[in-house]
Amino acid sequence: MAQTKIPWAEHTWNPITGCTKLSQGCKNCYAKTQHPRLKALHPRCYGERFEDVKFLAERLSIPLKRRIPTRYFVNSTSDLFQESVTDEQIGQIMDVIRRCPQHQFVILTKRAERMHSYFSDSAVPENVILGVSIEDRRNLDRMDYLKATDAKARVISFEPLLEDLGDIDLTGIHWALVGGESGHKARRMQADWARNLLRICRRDGVGFFFKQWGQYDEHGVKVRKMDKTPKLDGVVYQEEPTSGQPGTGKRTCQLAPLPCDQKVSSEVVGLAEVVAGAFRQQADMLDANAAMLRRNAALLEQLMTREEKGDCGEKKPCEVRRSRKVRSTQYDSYEAIDADLKAGRIEHRSAAAYKAQLTKRLAA
Ligand code: SF4
Repeated sequence: MAQTKIPWAEHTWNPITGCTKLSQGCKNCYAKTQHPRLKALHPRCYGERFEDVKFLAERLSIPLKRRIPTRYFVNSTSDLFQESVTDEQIGQIMDVIRRCPQHQFVILTKRAERMHSYFSDSAVPENVILGVSIEDRRNLDRMDYLKATDAKARVISFEPLLEDLGDIDLTGIHWALVGGESGHKARRMQADWARNLLRICRRDGVGFFFKQWGQYDEHGVKVRKMDKTPKLDGVVYQEEPTSGQPGTGKRTCQLAPLPCDQKVSSEVVGLAEVVAGAFRQQADMLDANAAMLRRNAALLEQLMTREEKGDCGEKKPCEVRRSRKVRSTQYDSYEAIDADLKAGRIEHRSAAAYKAQLTKRLAA
């Protein structure tokens, strides 16, 4: 659908719009804040109220048309498993996801129980990173539903992180997204809460992605503009899921939780592929040129060897070279001189001189 500023995704895809609040994490829902603006931009796609949930069949084909492997955030302004979305509609969305093996689809929900129940009868597509959002201790049971769901990759979004979650067990989870709340009514996230999750991710082998501080910085100071590459204790954490990377596209991520400072969008990857193709073509041409130069060098070497032996087809230089060589030669017989003369290796004048030299030597 649209490119997104969310740093762990590349595009959002919203075949469903509208939602209803469920828990403390929904209190200052970003999607609800954005609803009037989105409704003004796309009046047919958004209901009168944020709570009017709409299924947009016309948006189903969007990922099918995109060939560049892309990581989609599904329903970034809604919740796929809310009550008013039917199983059939979820099925249609899953069908599209299965038909796009080149893409990855991140699905996050707060309705973990329904998600688990839905996937009890239907397999989670291979290219889905399935996840829940957890903002406080009260909702930690969402993680249990997620762990009990048979998905290739599991993610938990700890955003907005509203309290310290204690010593939770993240085994079976592959990716943790951590962030504070944004907006003018934002609640502050404390650095120690994020540090605790980082420690648990390191212990349980989970990729750690520190998305944002939110409207308060690490010192608790309210900020106007949020840092685009936020650091936790001086480090940018933008790790990928540690396993179960779904999707067959070329841009599947590394399996180890390696920190990276930069996110590469699909457009940059596409451009890099074009440039790499041009470089490969140039390299092929250089290979061909190098082979041609090697052949030419070998031919020249052959020619030089033949010339030194005096058997090249070129008449003049060879004769000169030969005559120089012959001049230093001492003939032992008149027959040898005649043989060289007959073969064209020496000239008449030289032959006469050699014969005179030989006569002198014999007389001496
Ligand atoms: S579930 Fe998500 S989209 Fe729905 S109200 Fe809560 S925060 Fe907003």
